Amino acid sequence: MKAQNGRVELAPLHNTAAVAGERLSEPVFPQRPHLLTNDPWPGDGERHWTPPQIYHALRGWAFPYLKSRLLPGDFHPIVAYLFTEYKCNLDCHYCWAYDNRVKGMTEEVAKASIDWLHSSTCRVLALMGGEVLLRPQFAQKVVYYAAKRNFFVYVPTNGRLMKPDVIDRLADAGVATFNLAVDAVDEKPGLPKALNPIRSSFEYLVKKQYRYGYTVFLNINICRNNVDDVRQLTEIAHEHKISTDYHINEPPLLEPDHFKHLEENSTYIRPEDYARIDAVVDWLIAKQRAGYTMANSVERLAQMKQFMRGGHSEPWNCRAGQNTLIIRVDGTLAPCFPMYNAVEDWGGVGEPRFDNRQLDDMKQSCQPHCFSTLNHIVGYCYDDRRVIEFLLRQARHGFQGIRGNLD
Ligand code: SF4
Ligand code: SF4
Repeated sequence: MKAQNGRVELAPLHNTAAVAGERLSEPVFPQRPHLLTNDPWPGDGERHWTPPQIYHALRGWAFPYLKSRLLPGDFHPIVAYLFTEYKCNLDCHYCWAYDNRVKGMTEEVAKASIDWLHSSTCRVLALMGGEVLLRPQFAQKVVYYAAKRNFFVYVPTNGRLMKPDVIDRLADAGVATFNLAVDAVDEKPGLPKALNPIRSSFEYLVKKQYRYGYTVFLNINICRNNVDDVRQLTEIAHEHKISTDYHINEPPLLEPDHFKHLEENSTYIRPEDYARIDAVVDWLIAKQRAGYTMANSVERLAQMKQFMRGGHSEPWNCRAGQNTLIIRVDGTLAPCFPMYNAVEDWGGVGEPRFDNRQLDDMKQSCQPHCFSTLNHIVGYCYDDRRVIEFLLRQARHGFQGIRGNLD
């Protein structure tokens, strides 16, 4: 058990708890049978948000933000990550965020989690793994139950198990966004998340988004060995009119015992790679300025260059444990993804025990070394002027897709 910052201990294993309670309801499928057809569909290829879809998105993001600003106290979750799985069917060499010894979440824990979050300000629920589609029926149940409670539901996947029937079932259940994680066009050593092995499912996912109303992102981790792929995947996403979201590869903040690739890792960026990474980051910034849609702001992309050279020099208002949290497979809580293996007692579903003093103290150590995209976005957005300007910009375009970001 090691802790890089010297302050956070690691738990050996968070395994499924035997929690009593109700199970998830059985999804009705199909709720919209007319959308199942593979024949051409009016409006395919063009985004047309309907008023209920716009309201759903606002209810997921904007209203919880406003409530979190107005309500007393410090813990007002906006986004929750629900770790339904901690197992994975792949082995990306940079990834410490899976452990095949850990059983998946039970229905009882999932239902209790969603019910508890529903009683709070939170209305964005991101399933998380591992690979969440290892149990597609479980994922469908979680999406269905959460969507019925008006959550904006986000499903990340490496796509290997994302067959057309699974896409239809999740879409029909009410998923709002698919975050498809791929690092390469073709598989390469250490980077198995590739587009070509899932190409037909990818095309199906993109084609069906307009009729169901979900969105699709490509989620790309910039590593030392995929710089050309980053460019190609960006162009493919643009050709398919979908957004991209980038991360800069980093070693784990904590060093879980189960992580096998800490030494000799072909994906880790080394000083001799800085110039090539700088060039691809500059290329991405130019593409964003040319109109490619990306989740990262220009400022955020530019920060990657400094981060890979040694971290952040300034605190960045991490809101983990206040506006974001994770729920582990056993129903215990932690502020964020990098702290999945920490032993600190932050409570469990229905009984959060986040303590601002402890979080502030911990963040002094971890913030300089953390590039958590979500928490950077939430920290950056926790500014009323930026949020209001962003919403006005979307309103001017009738909320038809995201225009710009929170620069
Ligand atoms: S697919 Fe995702 S969870 Fe699985 S090893 Fe790769 S990065 Fe980790
Ligand atoms: S900076 Fe925030 S998101 Fe990053 S490890 Fe620390 S608490 Fe977690």
